[in-house]
Amino acid sequence: MNQYDYLVVGSGLYGAVFAHEAKKVGKSVLVIDKRPNIAGNVYTETVEGIHVHKYGAHIFHTNNTEVWNYITQFATFNRFTNSPIANYHGELFSLPFNMYTFNKMWGVVTPEEAATKIAEQRKEITGEPQNLEEQAISLVGRDIYEKLIKGYTEKQWGRDCKDLPAFIIKRLPVRLTFDNNYFNALYQGIPVGGYTQMVTNMLEGIEVRLNTDYLKHKAELDALAEKVIYTGPIDAYFDFKLGTLEYRSVRFETELLDIPNFQGNAAVNYTDRETPWTRIIEHKWFEFGKDADGNDLPKTVISKEYSSEWKPGDEPYYPVNDEKNSKLYAQYKALAEKESKVIFGGRLGEYKYYDMDAVIASALELCKKEL
Ligand code: FAD
Ligand code: UDP
Repeated sequence: MNQYDYLVVGSGLYGAVFAHEAKKVGKSVLVIDKRPNIAGNVYTETVEGIHVHKYGAHIFHTNNTEVWNYITQFATFNRFTNSPIANYHGELFSLPFNMYTFNKMWGVVTPEEAATKIAEQRKEITGEPQNLEEQAISLVGRDIYEKLIKGYTEKQWGRDCKDLPAFIIKRLPVRLTFDNNYFNALYQGIPVGGYTQMVTNMLEGIEVRLNTDYLKHKAELDALAEKVIYTGPIDAYFDFKLGTLEYRSVRFETELLDIPNFQGNAAVNYTDRETPWTRIIEHKWFEFGKDADGNDLPKTVISKEYSSEWKPGDEPYYPVNDEKNSKLYAQYKALAEKESKVIFGGRLGEYKYYDMDAVIASALELCKKEL
């Protein structure tokens, strides 16, 4: 007799949504995670009153009202709007690409002047863009590509822009208005109290075992439950037997500084090729520099992000959805479909570049089918 209806491997958003919904309909659930903490990549840790985004800065944004209504059951969100700054050799630009950016880049003042400038520069691309470089030039022209895109992208992905798929850059808005909200989203914010508190609320009343690696104790853990929801890397599940899927990893260098304000903004992207980090996050500005009681925080925590190629043992962060990896993933997916007891989900289980809202939507889809 199995002790649990479901064993959920991974306490990230995908696992937490599924576990919450399963419990709600009366199923017994055990959640495990190999890390010493819950919440997967959205985990926040409190340092000097600041919620530090330990596995990378996370800004919640969505156009999906169902997802927004769902997630706001577990937290109140503040009004944070992401407006990163680009630093190119000390020259500062507003992101995403908007009238402030075009004014600084070219001195243009009206939307018409900006549109004319972009139209002139995009002429060099004829036909459908075949790669990220062509896509970027066709969106915003060569000057912006050279100063704000090329260096950042090549640091982030460790590949030449000519060898990267065009879709990566299509995420970035281009606007002929003075709107520097990074996301085209109806809803946006940061959960008050931090993401860890939000996931704690999702997992309320559910048994969680941390520091437990499913793959190291697979047989005994499988024996505990009727079914398994697996949100770890799909290739690791199959012991990499068809080869290793590639990821980009990120190394965070985090420092506590005894000053109240380091850079005046949550995110500054270093878009030149020479600065070794891709960006610096100053965590307190996600919550306007205040503690839970509304007092100004005297210190600050910053994280420099260095992008790197993933190797076994590192945290896999970004799936590399190029042709080679997509083919290999398709082969693993075929194997996964034969595992009748195990459902693969989430960013790593599906090897998919999911944002938080998409991962929640995908978990809710599974709940509809499964529960
Ligand atoms: P994860 O959060 O990765 O959870 C998987 C969990 O499974 C982990 O806790 C892991 O420890 C555990 N696990 C893996 N293998 C095992 C095993 N063998 N045994 C036990 N446990 C295991 N999205 C946004 O919407 N906005 C953002 O601003 C944003 N910023 C991001 C920044 C970075 C640097 C990264 C990498 C991602 C960002 N995302 C952002 C995406 C977001 O992190 C994901 O959509 C979301 O966290 C995915 O949730 P998940 O549950 O699928 O995976
Ligand atoms: N990008 C860029 N310059 C920037 C910010 C982003 O060229 O200052 C490019 C880069 O290729 C990146 C892509 O736009 O991979 C998408 O950026 P986004 O910030 O959406 O990526 P995320 O880190 O959220 O995955």
